[in-house]
Amino acid sequence: MKIPFVNPGLQYKGLREEILSRFDRISLTGNYVLGNEVEEFERNFADFCGTAFAIGVGNGSDALTFSLLGLGVKPGDEVITAPNSFVASAWTIANIGAKPVFVDVCEDFNLNPRLIQEAITPKTKAIMPVHLTGRVADMEMINKIAEDYNLLVIEDAAQAVGASYKSKKSGSFGDAGCFSLHPLKNLHVHGDGGIITTNNEDLYNRALKMRNHGLKNRNECEFWGWNSRLDEIQASIANLKLSYLDKWNDRFLELANYYIKELSNHIEVPSIKEFEKPVFHRFIIQHNNRDDLKFFLEEKGVMTAVNYPIPLHLHEASSHYGYKIGDFPMAEKQANKILSLPIYPELENSQAKYVVECVKEFLKV
Ligand SMILES: *Cc1c(COP(=O)(O)O)cnc(C)c1O
Repeated sequence: MKIPFVNPGLQYKGLREEILSRFDRISLTGNYVLGNEVEEFERNFADFCGTAFAIGVGNGSDALTFSLLGLGVKPGDEVITAPNSFVASAWTIANIGAKPVFVDVCEDFNLNPRLIQEAITPKTKAIMPVHLTGRVADMEMINKIAEDYNLLVIEDAAQAVGASYKSKKSGSFGDAGCFSLHPLKNLHVHGDGGIITTNNEDLYNRALKMRNHGLKNRNECEFWGWNSRLDEIQASIANLKLSYLDKWNDRFLELANYYIKELSNHIEVPSIKEFEKPVFHRFIIQHNNRDDLKFFLEEKGVMTAVNYPIPLHLHEASSHYGYKIGDFPMAEKQANKILSLPIYPELENSQAKYVVECVKEFLKV
């Protein structure tokens, strides 16, 4: 059996007729950028997340950039974030001239709220929790700390479309929620895409201009902006897929529960808290002999990934911050042990069963 780590083409196969007819309809209108499709998706997505506004942008990184800048984070400011994320969580902070300040994570891979306070300095302007693997960070405590210290909260929800915590959806806890619609995310388009959620009308109005050159109308530029929009065709695909998302997210969860049931006695697996509904964008197991396990599974046709092998503070790009090995023991320990198993709504039960059998075979259980 061959089991790819991800397989976006299968999702397309299931929706082919609908996507082709949308492509055809929009192509014939000749209106490809900033039209009805984007507006419709923005309305639907804001409703889905439970926020007042949503703004479609070119990718998840620009969603983060526009949120940081649009909410007033300035060069020299510090932004607290997790050291175990995808690199975009850090470079979006750094590239606006601010400094990413890392705080270690919990067993669930998310920011440890008990360690945030000691990282706060007079320069701290915002906290950027990352809802890694599709599980919402401890937003109750994070928001409490943000309130106490008058900090902004910008959620990096790129991996967590539809994940909830105490019945509130990711992207609705902070001053802004930032999502990626990249093909590897649980709601994805056929290329790059992103979207910001917010209840802040000023950010909404500013981000609408930021993504479109800083123009306030066709001819007048209020400030120098960017060209970072969600195309009409992509927005239409996102609209279509959003209508299936709850069903797909339930399937992610069903597969995760199956892996947990079959593997929890033998290897470290995530443990779901009763007040959360994760979407399991990634399902991560942990083993001291991770590299051998990865190689063994590959030989068996089961493709896996390590998300992510190098913590953000140990990248070459971080070297000028002065961090060193040992600064974030939990994130570093996890980086050496983590392995992401294949998980996607189209993964069949028989395939999940095979994955489990192969892991057990490696463990000799
Ligand atoms: C994918 C991802 C991003 C970046 O999104 P792009 O659309 O690729 O720019 C940012 N943060 C996290 C946690 C991600 O997984």
